[in-house]
Amino acid sequence: MEFLEAKKKHEDLVRLIEKYSHEYYVLDNPTVSDFEYDQKMEELQRLEEEFPELITKTSPTQRIIGQVLDGFEEIHHEKQMLSLGDVFNDDELLDWVKKTEESAHKELEFVAEMKIDGLAMSLVYQDGVLKYAATRGDGMTGEDVTTNVLTIPSVPTRINLMGRVEVRGEIYMPKKSFAELNEARKEKGEPLFANARNAAAGSIRNLDSSVARSRKLDGWWYYFANAEDFGIKTHAEAINKLDELGFKTNHERRIIKGKDQILAYVEEYTAKRSSLPYDIDGIVLKVNDFSLYDEIGYTAKTPKWAIAYKFPPEEVKTKLLDIVYTVGRTGKITPNAVLEPVRVAGSLVQRATLHNEDFILEKGLMVNDHVIIRKAGDIIPEVVKPILQDRTGEEIPYKMIENCPDCGSKLVKIDAMHFCLNKNCPSRAIESLIHFASKDAMDIEGMGEKVCEEFFALGFIKSIPDIYLLHHHKDEIIEIDGWSNKSVDNLLDAIEKSKNNSLERLLFGLGIKEVGSKMAKTLARRFTNLTLLMSQNEEELQNINDIGVVVAHSIVEYFKDEHNLEIINKLDELHVNMVYLGNNKVDSSSYFYNKKVVLTGTLTSFGRKEATEILENLGAHVSSSVSKVTDLVIAGVEAGSKLDKANKLGVKVINEEEFKELLGGEKDEDNQ
Ligand code: NAD
Repeated sequence: MEFLEAKKKHEDLVRLIEKYSHEYYVLDNPTVSDFEYDQKMEELQRLEEEFPELITKTSPTQRIIGQVLDGFEEIHHEKQMLSLGDVFNDDELLDWVKKTEESAHKELEFVAEMKIDGLAMSLVYQDGVLKYAATRGDGMTGEDVTTNVLTIPSVPTRINLMGRVEVRGEIYMPKKSFAELNEARKEKGEPLFANARNAAAGSIRNLDSSVARSRKLDGWWYYFANAEDFGIKTHAEAINKLDELGFKTNHERRIIKGKDQILAYVEEYTAKRSSLPYDIDGIVLKVNDFSLYDEIGYTAKTPKWAIAYKFPPEEVKTKLLDIVYTVGRTGKITPNAVLEPVRVAGSLVQRATLHNEDFILEKGLMVNDHVIIRKAGDIIPEVVKPILQDRTGEEIPYKMIENCPDCGSKLVKIDAMHFCLNKNCPSRAIESLIHFASKDAMDIEGMGEKVCEEFFALGFIKSIPDIYLLHHHKDEIIEIDGWSNKSVDNLLDAIEKSKNNSLERLLFGLGIKEVGSKMAKTLARRFTNLTLLMSQNEEELQNINDIGVVVAHSIVEYFKDEHNLEIINKLDELHVNMVYLGNNKVDSSSYFYNKKVVLTGTLTSFGRKEATEILENLGAHVSSSVSKVTDLVIAGVEAGSKLDKANKLGVKVINEEEFKELLGGEKDEDNQ
């Protein structure tokens, strides 16, 4: 390859890997499988080996990608939190062992451990008391997530060891908690988590600690970062010490040496993997003797005395029987593969999304093809490719449908996606009912996906306003299998209660394109009632912070539409609240009114989200960073760099007690 071509390829790979990393580490929402990501990383590594002049300090091969999310305090790691080098097969693993033994000049003893698929965490104790828990971040600086980690019952808050103690490990979501969580989300019509790792990371990196508490997380602790300060000489000894101090350590670990023992361990756990009650994505080998660590050394990103052996994704063959289409709430058409049922990574797979027409054409898939499938992130089934040599001539070339599979309307292609634009399309109607009733929208308990589909099919609910007329069908519902007088009453009560929701829930529930729950809140706060919002033109909307051209256009278009206006009028007649309730108590005489406030450190009486809500409801603007324009910093315990910055800039700082005093009785009132 010519240098210029390599340079271009390098740039493309770096851009792609940075995009995937951002989705994975920052948004906790990966769009490709770990395997695909690892392959791109390997490609980049190979390219840099061939053209070393392409290596820069910022290349993903040279640094840990991660970022502190807004709203979290930063914690500087005293000892950098590194990643691990990885190998993908036995030969590469044995090569690594050979190289490591060469640099240590002797045969080595290793500790083999499970590679837990979770989120790296550092716990720091001072004189026996937990001081903070921090994420890895970019390796140097992580997020202070103490409040969330404290919701995990197995994490010790006190230990019997004086001085500074740093323990590292992995927070994870057990397979059972993950299955229950996704089951509950499915019931409520909420989007599913791609895998337990992302569900765990999303829970720990949530400003509302009640989320972490509800997610049944746990931790395995696999590294005593300053064990040598306590005279400990080996990794195995250090983990035993953690055990003794009350940390949950994983007992699948084993001291091994030599090729045979190493390969036997890999084979044993490759087989046991799916029966473990938590996810692992590989095996870690660590040199046991601490005194060799400096000699063996480090790269900028990884220790050379440890390695991760990554399991290959489980891939299986099956047959693509058909391609069927689903119609989303916005009319988006998604093609899905109907597969000959097959077991992959522990569960039966019969369907897989094919995303859109381009995806199918790029892969060259045909109905009746034998295909390779695998589970992305071990949960979402993915069609990898057709097996060309297995073609028999019975395959049917793919052609995207032209009409909606439900109402028959002509489809319209916008970017890569096809849409059904018929607002009366039954599939769209069901999806919009599910969305309206979902947790972040009107939060109607008991009205999940199945109930919406059933009542739609029976003609009880045809469009959103019919939800509020469901009581007319009470007698008929009781007759349906699975319903009782009590369950119907509960549902009708939940429906009635939802009439009193604040405007932002209704706005989100209406399903206006581009208006997510956060935007709905911004709009509700700014306009306080639906009538005022409906009277805005695009220009007026764009004058508001956070609202861009696309959103403004979409809002105005939505309120121009006769069908949408009819829905809103009917909801109004049915006494559904159309006013923002959070603002009712905004009192310009409040101390916090119109002040720019920053919260830092841990507040003991309030969650971070709760304190933010209280302040916003009193008219304050809460932001995550301190600057010259900040009026006030509220500093909880363990406040760090933001407090320093406030002091440097001369910004007023109050503590939690003073905050409470200033709130007076306002906290209780606001939470009613
Ligand atoms: P890594 O996950 O490959 O290995 C390092 C991490 O392993 C450590 O930081 C630690 O958190 C964890 N770990 C688990 N058990 C351990 C044990 N017993 N001892 C020591 N560490 C242990 O590396 P990474 O830098 O955290 O992440 C890179 C990986 O993340 C990729 O290889 C890929 O699998 C995944 N990823 C996926 C995407 C995507 O889009 N799908 C994007 C970015 C990263």
